[in-house]
Amino acid sequence: MNHYVTHLEAAIDGTRLPFGQLHGMHAGRPIWVRYDLEAIRKAVTPDEIAKRPPSLWRYRELLPLPMDVEPVSLGEGMSPLLNCPRLAEHLGLKNLWVKDESQLPTGSFKSRGMTAAVSMAKWLGVKRIALPTAGNAGGAAAAYGARAGLEVYVFMPADTPSINQMETAMFGAKAFRVNGLINDCGKIVKDRSAEMQWFDFSTLKEPYRLEGKKTMGLEIAEQFGWELPDVILYPTGGGTGLIGMWKAFQELKELGWLKSNQMPRLYSCQAEGCAPIATAYAKGERFAELFPNAHTLASGLRVPVAVGDFMILDAIRASGGQALTGSEDSISRWMSTGGQLEGISFCPETAICLDVLAQLQARGEVKPKERVVVFNTGAAQKYQEAYSFELPLYSPPA
Ligand SMILES: *Cc1c(COP(=O)(O)O)cnc(C)c1O
Repeated sequence: MNHYVTHLEAAIDGTRLPFGQLHGMHAGRPIWVRYDLEAIRKAVTPDEIAKRPPSLWRYRELLPLPMDVEPVSLGEGMSPLLNCPRLAEHLGLKNLWVKDESQLPTGSFKSRGMTAAVSMAKWLGVKRIALPTAGNAGGAAAAYGARAGLEVYVFMPADTPSINQMETAMFGAKAFRVNGLINDCGKIVKDRSAEMQWFDFSTLKEPYRLEGKKTMGLEIAEQFGWELPDVILYPTGGGTGLIGMWKAFQELKELGWLKSNQMPRLYSCQAEGCAPIATAYAKGERFAELFPNAHTLASGLRVPVAVGDFMILDAIRASGGQALTGSEDSISRWMSTGGQLEGISFCPETAICLDVLAQLQARGEVKPKERVVVFNTGAAQKYQEAYSFELPLYSPPA
């Protein structure tokens, strides 16, 4: 057998769909990939995986690309899990780690989703993809598309960070700015896909970006010696990271690879200026409403409506976590504090997580000794607009 996928499954109603053909969504909602976990348990052990190269493709059996197909890769994955004692002390905690995704290709964790989705699209014969982006997904799609020889169309809000605009152009995508938000960009892709023969690569509108992002959960399990932390904070836009991580934990539990089946509490962190998931969570709803007048410097979180809303909210609730907001004013302060205490290049999205973590600690909802992981999903260097400064010009003493 050259892969372990049994079938695809519609997330909204459980409909079974065949693997090996091109799929978008089902009933307007995302699709899960399901594996023969019993066969995987017989085929490979965690010790064998530990000996493989440090790339997310080490979890090959738990990924959809057939084993004899070469992935479209830029060497992504196995990002460092950095212990942060100085930042921990500042926050009144003892055990804090940052999973540093800023070091991945294109400077964000979006490369995880794209290596998987572009590899699958190429294998399935796709020639042309299109996607809306809040910034980093467009850059990653352009890079992996270039490597695969695909034609890539990207639509982004007109005020997307300039580095994100630059990278899409540099990697040869046909990229456009749009007067509107990411959902308006998404509508352009949806409305013109048939005419333009685009395969829609929007977040969760094809099944495989999620599988790539799932590897964040596999990696922290492996890096913690197959014992999960107590608390995870994750900045949430479209939600693939959070949904993917929860899926990874369930698969590991079923595989029997975890030393304890105690699951981490997942905290979804959003900016106060764009918080559809936190709002739905507070109201006890399973589906979120479009968040009006979305604005935040944490551009990756500027996603006013998410097709996977119910998947995010189900995962948070099943884990015993919450969806909360961090303040806009705190973004540059947390970028500096984190950077000065640990030398890590914190993106604005993760600054929001640090603000939420400070709130949780103050309320006693995260205990000082709990093992806490914060995901740093991107590199600060990509956000000139969110963190501006000018160095003083040196003048020698008279
Ligand atoms: C896309 C993005 C997010 C949001 O990720 P999702 O998994 O889609 O919710 C967070 N941070 C950064 C830097 C991003 O680029």
